[in-house]
Amino acid sequence: MGGASPHAAPQGRLRIIFLGPPGAGKGTQAVQLAASLGIPCISTGEMLRDAIARQTPLGIKAEPIMAQGGLVPDDLLLAMIEERVRGKDCENGYILDGFPRTVPQAQALEGLVGSSLSDLVVFNMDVPRHELLRRLAGRQRHDDQGPAVLRRLSEYDERTVPLIDYFKSRTRFYTVNGYRDVEAVQQELRSLLDQR
Ligand code: AMP
Repeated sequence: MGGASPHAAPQGRLRIIFLGPPGAGKGTQAVQLAASLGIPCISTGEMLRDAIARQTPLGIKAEPIMAQGGLVPDDLLLAMIEERVRGKDCENGYILDGFPRTVPQAQALEGLVGSSLSDLVVFNMDVPRHELLRRLAGRQRHDDQGPAVLRRLSEYDERTVPLIDYFKSRTRFYTVNGYRDVEAVQQELRSLLDQR
């Protein structure tokens, strides 16, 4: 973990980001990894669905956008995530599932983690498109049905894919083959984390 800079994250503070298209298994892997590391898993999609269920002002704005498979505007997301990562339970680290999804969100994250992004671990989940479509077809969520799915995939291609290059040069970045069973992927994530 280095620790040479006075601004470096405290020893053992793990901040992990899951990147990848819808259906890549980010949520499943993130929840399992968070449980075994004893740090919270923060899913912006879950937080938004909860805001919709409670019909908060954020939820009311996000609802029609999410239903169509679009991305919720960066400023709304940022206010939400900023408050969350400042929570006491995030002191020893956290896993982000579904954030950041755009370059401006990643730039804002840099301000949020203080100093540089170099002690972040990014897992980029790679799964072939035909398998993503197969998995999404088996889900029950409204935004995993019909045209919303295609919109979600095209938002990923246009706005999230550029984050791969952005993070590659700035973080501990690993592309992981997600086209395997859940346990095999989880084991690889654990061993990548142990590498340093
Ligand atoms: P997820 O559960 O991660 O698949 O997210 C479901 C939906 O929530 C997405 O299709 C977006 O509409 C919205 N959403 C979640 N995270 C973000 C984000 N970081 N930026 C913009 N919209 C988001």
